[in-house]
Amino acid sequence: YKAKATHSGHHVYRNTDNRHGDARLRTLQELRLALTRDQLVLHYQPKICLKTGFVAGVEALVRWNHPERGLLFPDQFLTLVEEAGLMHALTQEVLRKALDQSVLWSAQGRTLTVAVNLSASSLIDSDLPERVGTMLSARGLPPTALMLEITEDFLMVDRDRARDILTRLRASGIKISVDDFGTGYSSLAYLRDLPIDELKLDQSFVFPMADDARAAALVASTIDLAHGLGLKMVAEGVENSVAYDELVRYGCDFAQGYFMSRPISAEALDEWLTARQSAAARP
Ligand code: C2E
Ligand code: MG
Ligand code: MG
Ligand code: MG
Repeated sequence: YKAKATHSGHHVYRNTDNRHGDARLRTLQELRLALTRDQLVLHYQPKICLKTGFVAGVEALVRWNHPERGLLFPDQFLTLVEEAGLMHALTQEVLRKALDQSVLWSAQGRTLTVAVNLSASSLIDSDLPERVGTMLSARGLPPTALMLEITEDFLMVDRDRARDILTRLRASGIKISVDDFGTGYSSLAYLRDLPIDELKLDQSFVFPMADDARAAALVASTIDLAHGLGLKMVAEGVENSVAYDELVRYGCDFAQGYFMSRPISAEALDEWLTARQSAAARP
């Protein structure tokens, strides 16, 4: 009887909002520990140059190696990081790890640009260009070792401050990419006057491309738009050879996607790069 009561009591408890609140609080405490106990890990997804088939760089994507729950993905914890006011700390940690890894790559003779995602909140901070510059020079890395990916919502927060920060970053030689391009509500106006280098077409435009002529037309014209503005175009979410070949035909500059590689650990990336070097320059 006792066991049964405990069991059913536990079950009811599980489904209340209070249980949810407790879990949140626990996760918040765990998040703070994650940062101090080095539980964040970066996985890297190759970015392929569609003209040459060569690996142009990688994108760093954060994961949380949770002691009990295993490897957690950004959609399982980034909102909470934001709410807890820990995004600044996370960004610093990700930049540190990505640049430390970059030092290892250059020691191995690999020239790979690493792209780091910046949330809108981590870009409110006007000291960012200086801090990033210090992190690079402390490691003896050139500014071309790093790219920064921002999203359209950042450009919406404070357009003047955004322009100032981006201008200073680019003056130091760091390239800027606009991630998830096409999903924001900022339309095309900012493209005219913001200091950026590259657009990353959101995967939701790339997925339907193979079976939908209108989706394909949209991708093709967006690539032309980017080129008309002197910007490079990256396609995300390339999951098969049909999408890959179409993007090559449309003159897209770069592509990322599961067809070439999922985001993988630094060790797995090393093997992937070695295998690819000894194979033909096509995935
Ligand atoms: P994102 O920067 O747009 O990254 C692309 C996401 O799509 C990644 O998910 C990647 O694993 C996934 N992806 C790549 N290729 C394919 C494909 O062919 N098919 C499909 N279905 N998915 C693909 P992930 O790693 O879960 O990251 C999700 C988002 O979390 C990222 O979107 C980015 O906005 C955010 N994020 C990741 N790492 C960081 C970070 O260090 N800092 C910040 N602020 N945000 C991050
Ligand atoms: Mg990104
Ligand atoms: Mg994206
Ligand atoms: Mg995204």
